[in-house]
Amino acid sequence: KKIIIAIDGVSSTGKSTMAKDLAKELGYTYIDTGAMYRAVTLYSLQHGFFTDGGIDEPKLQAAMNDIDISFRLNPETGRPDTYLNGVKVEKEIRGMEVANRVSPIAALGFVRRAMVAKQQEMGRAKGIVMDGRDIGTVVFPDAELKIYVTASPEVRAQRRLDELKAKGEAASFEEVLENVKTRDHIDMTRAESPLRKADDALELDNSQMTIAEQKAWLLEQYKK
Ligand code: C5P
Repeated sequence: KKIIIAIDGVSSTGKSTMAKDLAKELGYTYIDTGAMYRAVTLYSLQHGFFTDGGIDEPKLQAAMNDIDISFRLNPETGRPDTYLNGVKVEKEIRGMEVANRVSPIAALGFVRRAMVAKQQEMGRAKGIVMDGRDIGTVVFPDAELKIYVTASPEVRAQRRLDELKAKGEAASFEEVLENVKTRDHIDMTRAESPLRKADDALELDNSQMTIAEQKAWLLEQYKK
């Protein structure tokens, strides 16, 4: 029987790597909800919705129906790429400019409601591994398997920095550490569905684990 697997947790824990691997192993569909909030942020940057005072909320709200986000499997990588209004934006949404602005966008109630509705629609098919911050608490509170991933901020910043460097992006450890901590803080303290562990989620601290160990642990939980 195909189920819904919810993987939530703080920033840059390697959640998406785990979720992608697990989906591949099980023949499930992987859905990266962070990419959706990142795409809304990129759209906002492209349309000048960030002002000195913050975000032009009325303009963004009026534009929500014009923001089409989709995923298409990349046959070369075997993983889904994110598309914003038909344009591949995978590279653009992973950079520091978007990372530094995404959490305030994701704190807006009207943005969350639109994304959650879309995610619930995508999950209708079952056989889904979805990663994010509120999957086990809000999007799919009845998910059959819920994982909550944590790791120390320093370990997470180093992993994120390695990832950025591999993509040829310049960033310093301090800058990335600051970004990771700030995003966690905003995500945990926002009024609308703040980041927290669902009561029935299994907690995984992967600070000291290899990718292979995490995968084995996940498969074990799935089989239980
Ligand atoms: O997972 P990722 O780091 O790509 O997510 C980017 C940001 O999007 C998070 O820091 C958080 O602010 C927001 N987010 C969210 N709810 C989700 C997924 C991501 O608020 N389900």
